Amino acid sequence: MRTKVRFFENTADIPDPKRSILEPAGCGPEVAEVTDDDIQGMRFAYLVVELYSDDPRLPILQGRFQALGLEPLERRWDEYTEEELDAARLLIMSYDNNETVFGGPRLGTTYDMSEACPRCGAGARQTSAMFIDGEDLPKLEGRRASATYYKDMLVDEKLAGTLAESGLTGISFRGVFAAFEEKGPIELPWRQICAAHTLPRMSPRSTGIEPYKPCACGRSSFTNPAEVPMRLAYRATDVADIRDVNVTWEWYGEVKFNGDVSKAVFPCPLFLVTPKVRRIFLDAGVTGFDWIPIRVEES
Ligand SMILES: [Zn+2]
Repeated sequence: MRTKVRFFENTADIPDPKRSILEPAGCGPEVAEVTDDDIQGMRFAYLVVELYSDDPRLPILQGRFQALGLEPLERRWDEYTEEELDAARLLIMSYDNNETVFGGPRLGTTYDMSEACPRCGAGARQTSAMFIDGEDLPKLEGRRASATYYKDMLVDEKLAGTLAESGLTGISFRGVFAAFEEKGPIELPWRQICAAHTLPRMSPRSTGIEPYKPCACGRSSFTNPAEVPMRLAYRATDVADIRDVNVTWEWYGEVKFNGDVSKAVFPCPLFLVTPKVRRIFLDAGVTGFDWIPIRVEES
């Protein structure tokens, strides 16, 4: 595993960013991109640099930013080898945020709230098919798998069949409907993958996971700060009875809930699967997902 660092800096007020920032650090076009465009009278001047965290150019580059009084936006994430991904106990399934479809409570999906937190909705148990926004149907075209903004995982019927026949544990499926404002919902040739197993609380040694607007229940809402790679850790005993598909106890993201489910923005758990599930997705030619191994503390 290696950690990648990405810097983004607005360079509108820097006369020659190549010379003042990049060249002293030895950063050429292989790691840096300088843009200075005029689009309809608006100037877009910025630079983007991506380096591995162990690259000797990194401290020099940071020194240049500092010397010029710049505080670039910074994002860090881990990159794993195929061997590491195959050897992981569980992988966080994460779908490209720009490609997600809108679905959930506000589209007509129903939930049992009897064991959920009355303040944030964490623990809401889905009781119906998944309803997604009919306007987002083009986002499913040409795809075999997708996800809602709330990490509900969706697969086409054929992939659902393959998953069902693969002897995976802890997996079940629900129907998927497109909801429209002016006509009734339409059932889609897609299925939602549902997890039966909820993991215990994550280890406090997890990093890159922070309380965002914490609820008194302690179960929501978490977020992942961009500048720290997300590393979800569990104790060995926590993963002793995992299934092939699981969800986290913690719920992430924005919350807006006043007791009315049909208007709710619920937080959502992360979806964790074994490498076997990833392999089935890859064999089906699925793209758009990131897979991030969890860490297991052996002591
Ligand atoms: Zn709560």
